Amino acid sequence: MIGICILGATGSIGVSTLDVVSRHSEEYRAVALTANNNAEKLFEQCLQFKPDYAVLIDEQAGKQFTELLKNSDLKTSLLMGADALEEVAALADVDYVMAAIVGAAGLLPSLSAVRAGKRVLLANKESLVMSGKLFMDEVKKHNATLLPIDSEHNAIFQCMPDNFSNGLDKCGVTKILLTASGGPFLNSSIEQLKTVTPEQACAHPNWEMGRKISVDSATMMNKGLEVIEACWLFNTTVDNVQVVIHPQSVIHSMVQYADGSVLAQLGNPDMRTPIAHSLAWPERIDSGVEPLDIFEIAQLNFQSPDLERFPCLHLAYQSMQTGGHAPAVLNAANEVAVESFLNNELSFTKIAEVIEETLNKVSPPGTFDLEGILEADKLAREYADQLTNSLRT
Ligand code: NAD
Ligand code: MG
Repeated sequence: MIGICILGATGSIGVSTLDVVSRHSEEYRAVALTANNNAEKLFEQCLQFKPDYAVLIDEQAGKQFTELLKNSDLKTSLLMGADALEEVAALADVDYVMAAIVGAAGLLPSLSAVRAGKRVLLANKESLVMSGKLFMDEVKKHNATLLPIDSEHNAIFQCMPDNFSNGLDKCGVTKILLTASGGPFLNSSIEQLKTVTPEQACAHPNWEMGRKISVDSATMMNKGLEVIEACWLFNTTVDNVQVVIHPQSVIHSMVQYADGSVLAQLGNPDMRTPIAHSLAWPERIDSGVEPLDIFEIAQLNFQSPDLERFPCLHLAYQSMQTGGHAPAVLNAANEVAVESFLNNELSFTKIAEVIEETLNKVSPPGTFDLEGILEADKLAREYADQLTNSLRT
């Protein structure tokens, strides 16, 4: 049996992962499930999947979980705190780690899985955006297997030749075409964007996701983070990654070759496809996703993104061109601004303003070890926090 640790088991990706695992219970076993503060949901998952360990971050949730545990005959051990995330990601019984915590909180546990040489199923794009080269160097050093869960990167991976890590020019790849749905405000005017509410931003037309990534999709920062993610995963630069708006979300991305070929991966928009792909790779297993009905879809449309209405995408490109800690600063400022927007404290269009200003003002010292990256993250958060407070609605 293959032992699995799911970091962020109660989230959208975590739940989809458990759904795929439940279809193949003779093959995969949950060894550890983790969550931030949803004790009830985590306990329910533990009753069904009987992992050896459960991890919670929030103390109150820990107490609630302990009570539930007492009144059951479940053998799961509860561990508490952020260190426990790193611990369970590196357990000897764990073969695969699904890294599905949202935001910078996912960096240390994802790295722990990499350093333990696991197969790492990476959904937590923020950790790669923050630590890029260090993360990829650690993958190589510890012989970990890194498989992308982000639907676009999973699609690109499926369309890439086996030797892509030698450099795209050496294997005939000329361009990555990264598709984007355009989010719920694809056709909204700047005036309309100013009054967008968190509920409207979280109502994505094609995908059901956590609240943070839903807002990122609405600002198109999600696509910006994905451009950066693609550069690190596929060893290339931003000029080779082109964003294509494709509102149907059926083509999950494409790879263009020197001979004129363009390979694409298609499927219904359901994260269980990339999850099943990465669990079974290089084999294929059933994911529970309905087969694609191309006759029902009938049409596929493409357009280029509007950087004026979606400045976050431009800021992400810019941060990668600046290099150094700029992507980590971008990510931290975005997390602060999005949280503030979700709390109804900042307007939608000010998210980009906070990020731009933070990028202009915060330039952390250039040490690229883990300490330097965490320091850059902290400095950017402090600055963005102050700025957000001064811009409060
Ligand atoms: P979500 O908000 O639904 O779930 C987040 C999970 O992380 C939860 O289990 C939560 O308990 C845990 N968590 C949150 N803060 C934490 C903390 N401080 N410490 C420990 N655990 C914490 O998010 P999601 O939509 O599942 O996204 C997870 C990650 O996957 C994100 O990085 C996102 O960008 C990426 N991703 C998601 C999708 C999607 O369809 N949902 C697609 C591609 C990539
Ligand atoms: Mg994606």
